[in-house]
Amino acid sequence: MFHKKSILDLLPEIKGKYLINEPMNKHTWFAVGGPAEVMFLPADLEDLKNFLKWRPYNLPISILGGGSNILVRDGGIPGVVIKLDTPAFKEVKVEENKITCGAGLKNIELQKTLLKHELGGLEFLCSIPGTIGGSIKTNAGCFGKSIKDVLLIAEVIDGQGTTHQVPAEDFQLSYRSSLFPDDWIITALTLKTEPSSKEKIQEIIKEQKNYRQQHQPYNEKTAGSTFKNPDGLRAWELIQKAGCAKLQIGGAKVSEKHCNFLINTGNATAEEIENLGNEIIQKVKEKTSLTLEWEIKRIGVGK
Ligand SMILES: Cc1cc2nc3c(=O)[nH]c(=O)nc-3n(C[C@H](O)[C@H](O)[C@H](O)COP(=O)(O)OP(=O)(O)OC[C@H]3O[C@@H](n4cnc5c(N)ncnc54)[C@H](O)[C@@H]3O)c2cc1C
Repeated sequence: MFHKKSILDLLPEIKGKYLINEPMNKHTWFAVGGPAEVMFLPADLEDLKNFLKWRPYNLPISILGGGSNILVRDGGIPGVVIKLDTPAFKEVKVEENKITCGAGLKNIELQKTLLKHELGGLEFLCSIPGTIGGSIKTNAGCFGKSIKDVLLIAEVIDGQGTTHQVPAEDFQLSYRSSLFPDDWIITALTLKTEPSSKEKIQEIIKEQKNYRQQHQPYNEKTAGSTFKNPDGLRAWELIQKAGCAKLQIGGAKVSEKHCNFLINTGNATAEEIENLGNEIIQKVKEKTSLTLEWEIKRIGVGK
């Protein structure tokens, strides 16, 4: 009898884990999205290298961080989604004023190291949801600072499994953008810090947390700012001007606290969230002639 080959038969042997049909709503802040055909959790760098070297080249590969800046469509993600979620990708090393962190480390977890070694300058990063590796693609930033100001060097692995040390300037980081080939995976970053004190670090972190709680949706299913600010303008002001601050489609709505944030109120589909974003783009265009650009990465296929 003829048996259809499973995708697993095509994939190389690994030390980590393959998860089949892994629901992406478990891995994204929006809590929506269909399954990843396969999710690969590499055990360590060698495992990731071997996978990339021996995988079938026509198989689509995506890389996921903390899922705080993406919208996965309801039909899921074909191919393999790589998530650097094992301890080997969460190591932190401190050398004088430099910190090297594995790409899978959550930004918020960096706090412990800053406090222990009394190193400052990265408090802003601790306040951004997501992982160290996910911060490069959009040059994540807030409170007047971005990754561009603190990045020294990144360890990257390319689509063929070869590692490279890439100096910060090669990424051409600018407002929510970078020069970054789609098949590159960040595996670690070295960041610069400055001497500080426990009290000062705690004070900055507290201030930033308070600001976010007051001005942005907190503990909500969202993916942060939906659209980039057009040059010299603020996306939220354009959204408000276009009369979109109270828009809602199904379970997806514009946040009452900050209208550049979209919220899954509980049972939204990815399609509803994407349609809401597209409706805002259209209304802002009609009102102002400007076309808002998505900051959130939309991936996968519709249902
Ligand atoms: C409540 C809230 C507030 C936010 N506030 C801010 C803010 O103030 N400033 C800001 O800049 N952002 C903000 N964001 C957006 C988001 O937190 C950042 O963009 C964050 O850096 C995304 O990291 P992530 O690990 O979650 O990446 P993901 O959302 O998982 O992925 C984002 C992109 O990065 C790529 N990627 C992820 N990991 C890697 C890797 N290791 N190598 C290569 N590519 C990778 C993915 O393929 C994808 O294209 C906010 C989001 C939320 C939910």
